[in-house]
Amino acid sequence: MKKISVIGAGTMGNGIAHVFAQSGFNVTLIDVQEEALDRALTTIGRNLDRLIKKEKISEADKANTLERIQTNTLLQAGVADADLVVEAATERTDLKLRIFEEMDAAAPPHCILATNTSSISITQIAAATARPAQVIGMHFMNPVPVMKLVEVIRGYATSDATCGAVMELSKQLGKTPTEVNDYPGFVANRILMPMINEAMITLHEGVADVEAIDTVMKLGMAHPMGPLQLADFIGLDVCLSILRVLHEGLGNPKYAPCPLLVNMVAAGHLGVKSGQGFYLHTPGSKELVVSPYFQ
Ligand code: NAD
Repeated sequence: MKKISVIGAGTMGNGIAHVFAQSGFNVTLIDVQEEALDRALTTIGRNLDRLIKKEKISEADKANTLERIQTNTLLQAGVADADLVVEAATERTDLKLRIFEEMDAAAPPHCILATNTSSISITQIAAATARPAQVIGMHFMNPVPVMKLVEVIRGYATSDATCGAVMELSKQLGKTPTEVNDYPGFVANRILMPMINEAMITLHEGVADVEAIDTVMKLGMAHPMGPLQLADFIGLDVCLSILRVLHEGLGNPKYAPCPLLVNMVAAGHLGVKSGQGFYLHTPGSKELVVSPYFQ
């Protein structure tokens, strides 16, 4: 595999494009919004600068990595010569089904179509294409350049060849791939999201405040960040979508999203990406300031 297309240039798409380009692959990053593509290139440049500062890469490595990334606002043109497409667009089933239908028509017959979805059924997405054996989940973790895991999800019809190719490719990126089956939330979010939801319910019921909940989980459970800070980092809209998939898919009321989460998403308080969630987020600042709504 040489040419990789990444669809969606948001939180995850820029990181996925970054790791492929840094590992020597030619990447086309696709988004419907020109501004998202510009922002993604700026973020990738900043993250590469951080690696230069830590003496992990050279200025020349940065220039070569950026040179390997092209951008496109048109899906058809952007996937026309791809060996693998990783879809990382907004977490909505209708949108992903439409994108996979379009990709299937535009990508070469040998191309593997992967999705970075956090929770939507790989089997359902694959059924929107005429090549379900070549459709697979390639679930990177956030932030992609830092996190080692790729959760590789086999849909009902995913072939051994597709799975083997994606496992091998993930290793070439320096990641550790782990194969799982296609059930709501797979493994990562089936376990992570109920914990994040419970932290929100704990806050909503007034058991403790934002800082206390995150401190208990950080210092008591040795988590690198508390669940509310992590929710801000993931995106509260993404958390809500995943919980809805778990709730509907598994049919158990224990997965019902916390009403506070539903309200915050309705208010547009989405965490880091909107500047405010459980904490305030100022670009460039690492200071952890609790949102005035929770003070
Ligand atoms: P995001 O909201 O940051 O970015 C989504 C991007 O997709 C936006 O730039 C949007 O313009 C673009 N987009 C929307 N429709 C499109 C289309 N038709 N064609 C091309 N681009 C389109 O979202 P994100 O957090 O990067 O999540 C992307 C995917 O990755 C989702 O499936 C999500 O579940 C998954 N994921 C997210 C995280 C996380 O921590 N945020 C972790 C793992 C997986």
